[in-house]
Amino acid sequence: ATPTAIMVGSGLGAKRGILFKNATAIESSARIDTVVFDKTGTLTKGEPEVTEVVVDDFDHDRVLALAGALERESEHPLADAVVRYVDATDVPRLRATRFRNVTGIGALAEVDGHQVAIGNRRLMESEGVTIGGLGARRDEIASGGRTAVFVAVDGRAVAVIGIADAVRETSAAAIAALHQAGIRVAMLTGDNRATAERIAEELGIDDVIAEVLPEDKAHQVQQLQAQGRTVAMVGDGVNDSPSLVQADVGIAVGAGTDVAIEAADVVLMRSDPLDVPVALTIGRGTLRKMR
Ligand code: ADP
Ligand code: MG
Repeated sequence: ATPTAIMVGSGLGAKRGILFKNATAIESSARIDTVVFDKTGTLTKGEPEVTEVVVDDFDHDRVLALAGALERESEHPLADAVVRYVDATDVPRLRATRFRNVTGIGALAEVDGHQVAIGNRRLMESEGVTIGGLGARRDEIASGGRTAVFVAVDGRAVAVIGIADAVRETSAAAIAALHQAGIRVAMLTGDNRATAERIAEELGIDDVIAEVLPEDKAHQVQQLQAQGRTVAMVGDGVNDSPSLVQADVGIAVGAGTDVAIEAADVVLMRSDPLDVPVALTIGRGTLRKMR
């Protein structure tokens, strides 16, 4: 594109809080045929809230006390939701020791002489935990589009916690606008398949890539590129940085982590998913002026 077209493009973007880091970012935006969205914090608000605690053959308050102690040591957004929920009750505050985060699947610790694990089915499997009747309850929660995490105590699953994270008001409209522009839309998440598929259906997303470990996100983007797709990745988290770099255009939401903003080619200061189609449209307009 001509320098003038680039200037006009970045000016148009800046007015809406869409920051293109350089000329290449605008030019590449014109060629995108596939947009991959991270789910949590990008399509959803990233403000998870506990909706239900289903306990199986164990003292309810005891589960909360053990879970709260473990999650107090974690920095995961789901952990924050659990801690806020537990802190709003009057269960005793216990201390966790030997805390260990297992990236993308959960966390482990010792609390009050017990081995406590909180996370998804994969964590339970790798820890040799028996899930029993709680498996069906997990499926119910997940098919409602909520995230379900197991709490295990000494090798047995004793509870499932349901956690909801509302979708952003403009997520569905953003996806509709991308479709209008002939762009295919995928969602990439570490969350489980049933939860992800329910949300994807609600938003009109074409492809769901779920249960992806943080280190595999970039690889998923690369696979789409290997199929001949020109990919924009939209994300907010530290975990998203490698995939933002791998994508033809990395787009970070402004409310995201500094690491993601650093890794991106485009930053959406208003954190509004609708600014994704707008950014791509600006790119296309800029390229048109060149011809
Ligand atoms: P996302 O890609 O949606 O941001 P993550 O990769 O961070 O998700 O986490 C994937 C899954 O790992 C979560 O949906 C949850 O089941 C589990 N998990 C990870 N850390 C924790 C934790 N501290 N407490 C409960 N569950 C966790
Ligand atoms: Mg995220």
